Amino acid sequence: MIFNQEMECMSRENMRKLQLERLQKTVRYCYEKVPLYTRKFDEIGLKPEDIISLEDIEKIPFTSKDDLRDNYPFDMFAVPMSDIIEIHASSGTTGKPVVVGYTRKDMEDWSEAVARLAAAAGVTKDDIAQVAFGYGMFTGGFGLHYGLQKLGATVIPASSGNTERQLMYMQDYKTTVLISTPSYALYLSEVCLDMGIDPKSLNLKIGLFGGEGHSEELTKEVEKRWGILDTENYGMTEITGPGVSGECTFKKGLHINEDLFYPEIIDPVTLASLPVGSEGEMVLTTLTKEGIPMLRFRTKDITKLCDEKCDCGRTTVRMHKVLGRTDDMLIIKGVNVFPSQIESVLMKFSQIAPHYQILLKSIGFMDSIEVLVEVENGAILDSYKKLEQLEENIKHEIRTVLQIDAKIKLVEPKTLERTAGKSKRVVDLRDKKQY
Ligand code: ZN
Repeated sequence: MIFNQEMECMSRENMRKLQLERLQKTVRYCYEKVPLYTRKFDEIGLKPEDIISLEDIEKIPFTSKDDLRDNYPFDMFAVPMSDIIEIHASSGTTGKPVVVGYTRKDMEDWSEAVARLAAAAGVTKDDIAQVAFGYGMFTGGFGLHYGLQKLGATVIPASSGNTERQLMYMQDYKTTVLISTPSYALYLSEVCLDMGIDPKSLNLKIGLFGGEGHSEELTKEVEKRWGILDTENYGMTEITGPGVSGECTFKKGLHINEDLFYPEIIDPVTLASLPVGSEGEMVLTTLTKEGIPMLRFRTKDITKLCDEKCDCGRTTVRMHKVLGRTDDMLIIKGVNVFPSQIESVLMKFSQIAPHYQILLKSIGFMDSIEVLVEVENGAILDSYKKLEQLEENIKHEIRTVLQIDAKIKLVEPKTLERTAGKSKRVVDLRDKKQY
């Protein structure tokens, strides 16, 4: 089913007209309402009326995650707080998170965007959809929740964790759609088998997966284990949360909600705009957002676009599954973690030295993380009980602060490699990268 025939099947010519109209309005709005944009435009002598064609977007300066952090929490909001009805935030590094705010109209657009991608994946009002993304400040849980409700599906707000209970819901409530990270879907299938239940005997038909990329190989494995259609969707907090794009049942790329978000591909080094079909960093501009509009936001995600009509009938531009990231963020079981966050947890323990190494491994299809840490005084290694207690305390602290399970291994003082320059804190031993 096509949720919004008019917007999703518009001729390319009309779409470009609509995008230009909305871009011009957004640029004017940003220039007038957001001091950061006023400053950025004035610095280079750019005026909103200089944007005459869609190509003129290249004249506009980029927006980065740092801009959002520098304006923490609300300085990039374009409306007074009385018009904001919900806020969300993404995980920060050691510093503050990125905070975004939605007006009532933004919430409607967000729900619509997610409803479209769910419908494109084959979800209907007759489906029972279990949201196993965490609710709370992250956009994943609530974003899918609102969109699926808009579509009319029955939503089970299971939230993340408690795997056996997730499986109980799936059995008892006859869940037909699972919303989670792809690696969690695999983990669920393993636990299911351990409990003596064949995942294929449950009612699941469709997976709406996001929060991390997943390779074709992983997709096939998920489909085989569950006997479902595995679809991927994409988004990010700064732009709206989930809802930027999603796969249709033909799975030839993720359809971008182009009437809401204008995509560009740039060379991440020269920053030059690249033609359709080229691989590069995706840059997104919001076309209807009121709370926190975004001009040319650098996603740091590497992908490519395709503008040929899809077999499903939609004419919207499709993006390839994300091919990689331009920075070094780690994604462990769907949770974003920066090495610096692990470091700050370790630094709380006086018995350990400031030397550690993070090992990323694949165990089956799940990523796991092991942290080697040097002890300050080698004597502790002689007491198995003390050693075990310290390892357990560190593990607990990492779980509490970062919501990930890490294996901790304490090692003798001065045994980890030292380098004069930037130390190699992260060693990636995974079979393949996430994307
Ligand atoms: Zn399609």
